[in-house]
Amino acid sequence: MGDTARRRVGIMGGTFDPIHIGHLILAESAYEQFQLDTVQFLPSGNPPHKTDRTDGASDGERLEMVALAIRGNPHFTLDAEEMRRTGLSYTSDTLVCLKRQHPDTDYYFIIGADSLLSFDTWRKPEIICQNCVLLAAVRDGLAPSAMEEKMRKLRERYGAEIHLLQTPNIDVSSTKLRAWRQEGRSLRYYVPDAVLDYIGQNGIYRGAIPIPADS
Ligand code: ATP
Repeated sequence: MGDTARRRVGIMGGTFDPIHIGHLILAESAYEQFQLDTVQFLPSGNPPHKTDRTDGASDGERLEMVALAIRGNPHFTLDAEEMRRTGLSYTSDTLVCLKRQHPDTDYYFIIGADSLLSFDTWRKPEIICQNCVLLAAVRDGLAPSAMEEKMRKLRERYGAEIHLLQTPNIDVSSTKLRAWRQEGRSLRYYVPDAVLDYIGQNGIYRGAIPIPADS
């Protein structure tokens, strides 16, 4: 079977607490720049590096926010598989599982520069690299040369296929948005209107005053 028959699927994994424009722009850029057939949003169930979360939304709320954010984009889909699993969620397990279920698919795992820098601390990085292409985007103003250097090391160490995603530095994080909510500041334009409404209506992030999108 020739390469043309293979599906090209992006994976946008994250806690999405809440989902914001950084995630959405990364996913759309990957779709466009790497000719992906679709980008699958994969909210993590219980990520090992975030077990101390106390100020966050529930799993159901995070899932709903992702669903609302990607509604209307025909090449974005939502995969709740990691959330259904009990215990900690590891990207390596998820990718092995996906490859087993869909051997005709090539996966492109989309990450920001902070994830790129901490990649060696992830569980079984070599298994991740065997099962996907990594697409990394700049974040926190990290110099492209620093990213290239890290990418070179990951290629050497794990045989990673890894590419730079062309995106502007998008200065937003879920942590910052949660803090802003608690301070009563507006999240408008940092999250889609439907997500903003949902956060307001459900009093998510410590019950600050609801801010309707149409106010
Ligand atoms: P938190 O602030 O709670 O840690 P976050 O904003 O980093 O959350 P996550 O859901 O943890 O969001 O991120 C999922 C993936 O998206 C990670 O690989 C992260 O690096 C990437 N990402 C998130 N926001 C940005 C951004 N503004 N620019 C580039 N990459 C981003």
